[in-house]
Amino acid sequence: MQESNLIVRRIKDGTVIDHIEAGRGLRVLEALGIDGKDGNVITIALNVPSGKYSKKDIIKVENRYLADYDTNKLAVISPKATVNIIKDYKLVEKRRVTLPNKIDKIFRCSNPDCITNSHESIESVMEVIDKAGLVLRCKYCTRILDVNQLKYN
Ligand SMILES: [Zn+2]
Repeated sequence: MQESNLIVRRIKDGTVIDHIEAGRGLRVLEALGIDGKDGNVITIALNVPSGKYSKKDIIKVENRYLADYDTNKLAVISPKATVNIIKDYKLVEKRRVTLPNKIDKIFRCSNPDCITNSHESIESVMEVIDKAGLVLRCKYCTRILDVNQLKYN
């Protein structure tokens, strides 16, 4: 067993988000709405050694299975993250997160005059125009959006 696996305890049922880019773990929590208010045990490890020269963040959420809808958010925040679904201590599903061509609802457009920020009930839609550079464009006002400065809905 790798050293990094010993830092946080094994979980019986739930989701392990592994290989999060170091420093982005807290942002992942925010994006996924994981705040512990539901009473489930949540373990967060930041800057865990990964390989000889790199570090990663890990989040373990007990009794919650991450949906694909949430996986899309991870693809924007930390594209190399992996999602492991654990049932009865066994790894039953391992997913790589994949960046979709467009992202509905998750982010708020940074343009205050954008129609998605008005009182109209229009959900945001961001087109992914550069997958490697994580560049998004609002479908409605066409503003180019910096992923690192976006707010989550
Ligand atoms: Zn917009």
